[in-house]
Amino acid sequence: MVQFSDIPVVRHVGYIEVNTAFQNDVSPLKVDLIYGTFKSEDGSNYILPVVKRAENMVVNDTLSHDYLSPAGIESFSKLACRLLLGDIENLWNDGKVFGIQSIGGTGALKIGAEFLAQHMNCTTVYYPDPSWEMHGSIFSFSGFQKKIQYRYMNRETIEIDFEGFCEDISNASVDSVVILHACGHNPSGLDLSKEQWRTVAEIMKERKLIPFFDIAYQGIASGDIEEDTWAVRHFHSEGIEFLCAQSFSKMFTIYNERVGNLMIVQKSGHNIESLKIHFERIIRSIYSSPPNHGARTILQILSNPKLYDEWSSSFKAIAARIIELRKALRKALEEEVAFKKWNHITDQKGMFIFLNLTDSQVEYLRNFHHIYMINCGRVNVSGLNFTNISYVAKAINDTLRKN
Ligand code: PLP
Repeated sequence: MVQFSDIPVVRHVGYIEVNTAFQNDVSPLKVDLIYGTFKSEDGSNYILPVVKRAENMVVNDTLSHDYLSPAGIESFSKLACRLLLGDIENLWNDGKVFGIQSIGGTGALKIGAEFLAQHMNCTTVYYPDPSWEMHGSIFSFSGFQKKIQYRYMNRETIEIDFEGFCEDISNASVDSVVILHACGHNPSGLDLSKEQWRTVAEIMKERKLIPFFDIAYQGIASGDIEEDTWAVRHFHSEGIEFLCAQSFSKMFTIYNERVGNLMIVQKSGHNIESLKIHFERIIRSIYSSPPNHGARTILQILSNPKLYDEWSSSFKAIAARIIELRKALRKALEEEVAFKKWNHITDQKGMFIFLNLTDSQVEYLRNFHHIYMINCGRVNVSGLNFTNISYVAKAINDTLRKN
């Protein structure tokens, strides 16, 4: 009989390990560029004021703590899908678009992966190289036998390897699932142009692949909520069926409330009730039903025009700050490290700057300069501020010269 003590010893890698080292560092110089959460100019975690107000309204209005249904609050999911596709009234009524409230974007990917494995007999998933670190494991824990990373970024030039990307997905077998970052690609910050998205949609249609969008940075990539859904809307306009995992963690600075939505877009809506039951059965066997508070808070904002305006304008200000910080870091690095090109910092989009550093360079920054980021040199832009940018640029110069 296996005993707990027989289980092989493992240790945390990635975020958790780096974050623990950051927490234990007592230096006043330390800089946290690790997680994708918004920080204020003073380095503290930022919560949108409108979210706090909406939360108070929800607490005061909550009369019951009854279970939600497994698929969550339908009016929340409908407004979430509207954020992606615009006016969906007819599509929703016809069952061609529907949503399932999920536990963050991670939960939306998980229930989508379970559904694809159990009901569509999918066994192969393609996702970008590089990608958000959980894509591979979510799908393999759901029984996908083949995980293949498609070429996405040329690491030499830090540009999109579009030829490699198209070649790889053109070789995918029918019914392979292809994960696509809709905007603000994590970690590269490199997004496809509209022309490139058109080509990808064509390939996916021709090869009969199943697109699974992941959108966690809507509005943060371009500063415009609608513009950042262009790819999702294009696939819809091409009549392609797809899934889209939506994370509200960053858009509403509501990370630990775990709010997300899984949108399903289908050509015919006749089987909508039965499809929903399949999803509900999956949810029942994992967590039974989702939590209430975060989704209600977001529903409060999305359904109230005054709160919505306040949210979208304060959110725009965050996106604008990100763009300013990118410009400032690029300028500082061009002054400090003139032997390298830094244009990719302002060409990249979203919350992350991909510096493409080696593991030893990242470790050197950590050990000698108290600057913390995950391996590969991915920087949370909002961890920078106008006080620490020049310190960070000098440290990067030192690192590149010595490693
Ligand atoms: N997808 C991507 C691309 C992400 O970057 C993240 C979070 O960083 C997620 C999904 C997960 O989102 P959530 O925290 O809402 O589960």
